[in-house]
Amino acid sequence: MKAVRIHAPGGPEKLVYEDVPDPIPGPGEALVAIEAAGVNFIDVYRRTGLYPIAFPAINGSEGAGTVVALGPGVSEVAAGDRVAYQGTMGSYAARAVVPAKQLVRLPEGVSTKQGAALMLQGMTAHYLACATYPLGPGHACLVHAAAGGVGLLLCQIAKLRGARVIGTVSTSEKAALAREAGADEVILYVERDFEAELKRLTAGAGVQVVYDSVGKASFERSLQCLARRGMMVLFGQSSGPVPPFDPQVLNRCGSLFLTRPKLDDYVATREELLERAGQVMDWVREGRLRLRIAAELPLSQAAEAHRRLEARATAGKILLIPGA
Ligand code: NDP
Repeated sequence: MKAVRIHAPGGPEKLVYEDVPDPIPGPGEALVAIEAAGVNFIDVYRRTGLYPIAFPAINGSEGAGTVVALGPGVSEVAAGDRVAYQGTMGSYAARAVVPAKQLVRLPEGVSTKQGAALMLQGMTAHYLACATYPLGPGHACLVHAAAGGVGLLLCQIAKLRGARVIGTVSTSEKAALAREAGADEVILYVERDFEAELKRLTAGAGVQVVYDSVGKASFERSLQCLARRGMMVLFGQSSGPVPPFDPQVLNRCGSLFLTRPKLDDYVATREELLERAGQVMDWVREGRLRLRIAAELPLSQAAEAHRRLEARATAGKILLIPGA
């Protein structure tokens, strides 16, 4: 089968589209014919070596398609089921072996491509707004990269929960998309100091929570945007990792909380996975949550997908389509 493998860390050119042996499902695993693979920033970290992995490896940890074979002892899904998943590497491929307990059946009304687009970024936006800091009316939040894959979904879910949303983006085109997703105010953080602008917008009060996926470039000023006892949710590092820092800063800025969460800890049991994925899928089916598929590229163009993501040239989801 065709797959996109990494043999050594480096730039997008390290993503090699090549023939590899078909994977065979073992106990508790299912073989999924991938119809769409989701591209995520974590795929970039694995490619560059920021998150170390064993090489060679097929990149991509999100996908959707049809179950075509089962290993022994699988009860969660059956051959022919339409499924989506995240959390196991190997989705930049025509076929992938996935632990059956990670697979979620796609309901009528959610397309396979939507399934590939919602598992990682959708469930992330869900846990951030519903569990890490359960937003509600009376809360204000700052969402960095508000027109990104996670960002557009987080703005929508924060609004569904009744919060005030202030977003940051790099261009006016992205600002329009963030507003469409429900952001009440949008700051162009490459042109303006977002800290000063946020203080102006909140009359100096700050926000209850900052959702910061940008990391190095935004972290310090994000802390300054929080209200007393607010929560800093550092969930990514698109601009680079945050350097070591002194916890005393949290005291000085108003007894702040800091968390560095990851999705796996919020879908740690099958029950929680099905509940979280189920709610996101329900919202998509009901039209309450809109998935923006920014681009669908053939699997052979994985390198181009990474270039766009790293160049901040995307707004929403990029999908890779095997066989296209
Ligand atoms: P995005 O679609 O959000 O793409 C990244 C965005 O970050 C860019 O579009 C850009 O938006 C912004 N950005 C700011 N500075 C930079 C920079 N120097 N280089 C590149 N981008 C920059 O990606 P995802 O939605 O896939 O992921 C967003 C972040 O969330 C990532 O850091 C990812 O690792 C993290 N994440 C964490 C999870 C978790 O559970 N902890 C789960 C899922 C994602 P703009 O142009 O508007 O500045």
